[in-house]
Amino acid sequence: MDAPHERESSSGARDDRLGMNEPITRRDFVNAALVAGGGLWLHGRLPAGATAGDDWTGYGGVGDYARSNGNTFPVMNAAHAIRDRTFESKLAGAIDTGEVYDLLVVGGGISGLAAAVFFQKRKGGRCLVLDNHPIFGGEAKRNEFLVDGQSVVAHQGSAMFPVPKKGGYVASVYEMIGMDRPALEYQRWRGPSAEMPLSQTPYDTLGARRTNFGLWFGPRFGQRPGVWVVDPWHRNLEGAPLSDADKAELMRWRTVHDGGPRPKTEGDEISRHLDTMTLEDYVMQQHHISRDTVRNYLSPVEGGGYGLGPDVLSAYCAYAPETEYPDEGDDALGDQMFPDGNAGFARLMVKTLIPDAIAGPRTVEAVWRNRVHFAALDRRDNTTRLRLEATVLRVEHAGEPARAPYVNVIYAKGGTLHRVRARNVVMAGGSWTTKHIVSDLPPSHRDAYAQFYRSPCLMANVAVRNWRFLYDMGISGCRWFEGIGNYFEVRKLATLAGNDSFGPDSPTVLTIKVLFAKPGLPIGEQGARGRAELFATSFKQYERAFRQQLADMFSGHGFHPRRDIAGLILNRWGHAYVNPQPGFFFGVDGRPAPRDVLRHQPHGRITFANTDLSGAMDHRNSILEADRAVQQIVG
Ligand SMILES: Cc1cc2nc3c(=O)[nH]c(=O)nc-3n(C[C@H](O)[C@H](O)[C@H](O)COP(=O)(O)OP(=O)(O)OC[C@H]3O[C@@H](n4cnc5c(N)ncnc54)[C@H](O)[C@@H]3O)c2cc1C
Repeated sequence: MDAPHERESSSGARDDRLGMNEPITRRDFVNAALVAGGGLWLHGRLPAGATAGDDWTGYGGVGDYARSNGNTFPVMNAAHAIRDRTFESKLAGAIDTGEVYDLLVVGGGISGLAAAVFFQKRKGGRCLVLDNHPIFGGEAKRNEFLVDGQSVVAHQGSAMFPVPKKGGYVASVYEMIGMDRPALEYQRWRGPSAEMPLSQTPYDTLGARRTNFGLWFGPRFGQRPGVWVVDPWHRNLEGAPLSDADKAELMRWRTVHDGGPRPKTEGDEISRHLDTMTLEDYVMQQHHISRDTVRNYLSPVEGGGYGLGPDVLSAYCAYAPETEYPDEGDDALGDQMFPDGNAGFARLMVKTLIPDAIAGPRTVEAVWRNRVHFAALDRRDNTTRLRLEATVLRVEHAGEPARAPYVNVIYAKGGTLHRVRARNVVMAGGSWTTKHIVSDLPPSHRDAYAQFYRSPCLMANVAVRNWRFLYDMGISGCRWFEGIGNYFEVRKLATLAGNDSFGPDSPTVLTIKVLFAKPGLPIGEQGARGRAELFATSFKQYERAFRQQLADMFSGHGFHPRRDIAGLILNRWGHAYVNPQPGFFFGVDGRPAPRDVLRHQPHGRITFANTDLSGAMDHRNSILEADRAVQQIVG
């Protein structure tokens, strides 16, 4: 499949049909740039603050997160400067701010914020959290659109949480940050059309137990226009333009589950055995299907929570989170989700650390709805300061790590390099930058980090004025096997967003996740090629590709891209997912697993966190790794 930047051929008429020239995204884009620049948009002049990078970053929506959709152009540029060491000659000239902290945390995602919360709870002291984005949260952030005057919200990355076990570890941490309920209330159905069951998260489509789900087959299957098969699994794929052999294989994928015993605890014999094989081999064995079926139809789904296809992942990936948290989740209440995904937890953590960072009381409703008071985040008298748009370039002990009195940390902000000192540092930014910036990392840790692979992901949020076209087809979720993306799901939102009811004529956001699996290539190369593609494609090229995809699938069913698409936000994550290869979890040939080197051996005054250390991208692991990293500091 060609990447959008390779297959661009725009014609004026086609672009017009797709809605590329509609004022709505352009007008919203200008509004966002106006907010970003704080300037005036007069007579076609570019507002102050709008840059060439806007062609890449694109429209960011409205509200607290309007300038922070995924890795924006400035964030991406600064990160590349770390990789390419272009700051090296300027480090010596960094301005000393004179600040000394008891704890400095690199990374203001859920892990970094949790580290600050644990530190303040267990010991207390002056703490600084540095993050390179314009708002905290890391992959747990929000997109907000105004569609015909109505606010519509979606997640940028981290999405759902299972109901925590009553009285368990996760429940106690949630309570500590002000999460006062195990589950949320969701929108009621808005008539008069008959109610269609809707999910609470974007992932139910993949389970597809429901009947209101469809598969689309287009030109790749010789279908022009494409054909829809609604409720495919209950109908044994009747009507799908597939060979009988492929249909039989896919039905086995749905119905046969024969992988042998499941692991019971992390590290037991079964989990160690699974970690010696690829997830692809395991999926083939479990469902009695061929490698071709996995690669042709299932790659992004079977490896979905890990970014790449199962050909390069450890089979233990299939069980990592559920083995670690066996008692979590509730079948009756279902998986849970704030309207903006786990951004809800990041906001609660910031409110816990800096009470006036978000107006109002520390209730779930107030913290979710009220705006962030950015000026409060980094005030001199805060016990915890949160400094944004600050890219950490260098972390180094002042002397020999075992005896150094403090750690020097240099970061870039606003084009200037600054230096602060800290008695302890938690590295919560992730393997992909930590390995570059901790300059005195010992060979054992360097070698461990060299075994971490991370792959990119594009989360595209497409706001539509209504989803009646889907409802009239009898579906709320779907999958496809060509073009851009693979699936989406209309979901009812938690009522925190304000609208208590929801129906086919309500505006909504279709979240389309794009992964860059290249089955058959080595693991590192898959990630690198995906990043190159993500990097080389402009906002406009992606916009055209998404509009075309939706037009191809739904134009024959009452959908008009020009009329119905109200806005598009791209969230590019260059290093979205950790990709654990066989041996990642429990080590090879008796050698320790790379994650355990980093977890068990603090480096002088520096400890390591971030969800990637667990090998499973999950906000609970972000928290757990932060907890351990802080314990190693405070004892
Ligand atoms: C598309 C997607 C969907 C997901 N869905 C779910 C889900 O449904 N449920 C779930 O629990 N988890 C999900 N996750 C996993 C998600 O990674 C975690 O839930 C969690 O948000 C990770 O938090 P973290 O703090 O560990 O890492 P991050 O969120 O990556 O935070 C690290 C922060 O540090 C910053 N940073 C890195 N280097 C530097 C530097 N040198 N200087 C300054 N700042 C730096 C990063 O830019 C980032 O802001 C999903 C992830 C993705 C990508």
